[in-house]
Order: sequence, then structure tokens, then C-alpha cells
Amino acid sequence: MIDFRSDTVTRPTAEMRDAMASAEVGDDVYGDDPTVNSLQAYAAERLGFEAALFTATGTQANLLAIMSHCGRGDEYLCGQSAHNYRYEGGGAAVLGSVQPQPIENEPDGSINLEKAKSAIKADDFHFAPTRLLSLENTIGGKVLSLDYQRQARSLCDDHNLLLHLDGARVFNAAVKSDCDVTEITRHYDSVSVCLSKGLGAPVGSLLLGTKAFIGRATRLRKMLGGGMRQAGILAAAGRIALEQGPLRLFEDHENAEYLSAGLAGIPQLDINPASTQTNIVYARCRSGRAEQLRDYLGDQGILITAGVPIRFVTHLDVNRQDVERLLGAIRRFYE
Ligand SMILES: *Cc1c(COP(=O)(O)O)cnc(C)c1O
Repeated sequence: MIDFRSDTVTRPTAEMRDAMASAEVGDDVYGDDPTVNSLQAYAAERLGFEAALFTATGTQANLLAIMSHCGRGDEYLCGQSAHNYRYEGGGAAVLGSVQPQPIENEPDGSINLEKAKSAIKADDFHFAPTRLLSLENTIGGKVLSLDYQRQARSLCDDHNLLLHLDGARVFNAAVKSDCDVTEITRHYDSVSVCLSKGLGAPVGSLLLGTKAFIGRATRLRKMLGGGMRQAGILAAAGRIALEQGPLRLFEDHENAEYLSAGLAGIPQLDINPASTQTNIVYARCRSGRAEQLRDYLGDQGILITAGVPIRFVTHLDVNRQDVERLLGAIRRFYE
């Protein structure tokens, strides 16, 4: 099987499995797991924060961030297509009693900061107090510019808001922005990062922030059922993902670019190759036969997400040859 559905599908490497098998562990709820502790310390250092928390998923890390920054009845601003608004089951509202105030994303994935500013509520008991702005980078594979993130920070400073980054793929953003990841993360009060996407870990994410913030998040993680015991088994793979994963993401971006160029040569597909910035490629099927295409490819052991648009994601477990195979099969489908 060649799987282009998501970068979450990567399997742990032999090195990860070895590290998992031999990981030193303890009960992490007691703070006793040396492998978890060392991952958290390394991550805090690597991303430029005081502290980090290992979480089960990116969804959990985002929920903990929103709940640690906002109280019951507060509000957070986010993009209409933000993962932590749209794709996380409404957790912030359901479990945190925090009201989302979504704002339509611009075509480049940003939130217009004038619109964000006008969505900040006045101090009036009719309104939910606005506490937090949440951005996402990358968003739909698109990168927010460093300059934009600087401006978002200053908006938050001017209006006494906290700033969270859903950085599930922040290392892809850093590669594309050609900077160290801390050039991005330094603008934020908190950042969530997925180890289990392009970085290649089987399970796990991280939440980063101040010590006090991570203290609140740790309490909430326990409350939400996320206190894991000998989690060092997972953190051992996470450590390798965090150390080594970022170094090879450029290959995924090159493969995505190559795929986009190939798809652009297929007249039945509508794609703007310039819109591919990182490891996610979107294309529309002009004939609307995306599901037939998916089934045709599936019969040949190639998996894609058939939506409008169709989505292809490159990652650790697909190489240039696999991209060639995909392109060849799509061309045959349209013949
Ligand atoms: C995948 C993803 C998440 C959530 O991660 P899970 O580990 O699947 O819960 C959050 N934000 C973004 C932008 C993502 O792509």
C-alpha cells in the first residue's frame, strides 16, 4: 500500500521500535518516567519554552491550551477552518465551556488582523470576555509568514490577549520559512506540536508554554483522562521523531512539489502548483469523479482522500518512486 491520505499514517522506524523496546520507564502520573521527562525537557529547549507536556494527541494538546488560557464563559478567536474549531468535536465549547469566535480564513490561511481586532469584545457584561487568539501554521499545508505572526503578536499585546499556535506541522512551516522553529514559536504564549505526523512518531503530541501554564495543563490533562503511566514507551519514539524528523521534511516538500507539477500536466485535474507550499497537495477533479478515482487507485494499492478538493499528503513512507506510481495510475484512469 502507498498511502497519500495523511502524514499521520507513517509507521515507526526500526530505530524507533528499538528505542521503544528498551526505553527506561516509570509512572508518569507521579512524574517518574525518565523518558517522558527527558522528551519534555528537550522539547521545551528545542522550541524555546520554559516547559512542555507530552499529550496523547494534538487534539488533546489544543484543548488543554484553550482550557489553560481561558476560563468558563471566556472566548477564543480562531479561523473558521481552524483544526481546533472545526475538527476537534467542539471540545473547547463542550468540555471547556469556552466559546469559539471563528473568523473566515483568508486564502493564504491567515486571519485578517483587522477582522480579529473587530471581533474582540468590549468589556460589557453582554459579551463573553475575549482571552485568546489561536492561529494555525501550517494551515491546509500553507505557511503563515513570519511578519504576519509578528503582527499577530503585537495585536495580542495591544489588546491583552494570549496567543496560541496550533503547530501540528510547525516544523514544516519552519522548513518552508527557511528558519529555525524558534523564529516562529517565539511569538506565541503556547504551541502544540504533533510528533505523530510528518515527524514520524506512532503516537503523541506536545504542548509548550510557561511553567505555570504547563502546570495548569497537567492538571487538566489528568482530569481529561490523559494521565498516562509508562508513557516513556511512546516518548522514546517521540524523541527520535523530534530530533530527526525535522531534518528530512524538505524531502516531503520536494515530493509534494514534484507531485503538483505532475498533476498540473493532467488536463482533467484543476490544480495551481504554486499553491503547494509544504507536504499537502490539493487538486480538483474537473469531472467530479473524485470517488471513482479514489476507488481506481485503491484497487492498485494507492490510497488518497477523495474530497472536494482531493488531498494528497507526502511523508516519510512515500518516496519519489511512489509519487511516480501515483501519477502514472492517475494518468491511466483518465485515458
Ligand atoms: C492533526 C492535527 C491536529 C490534531 O492532531 P491529532 O493528533 O490527530 O489529534 C491539530 N491541528 C492540526 C492543524 C492538525 O493537522
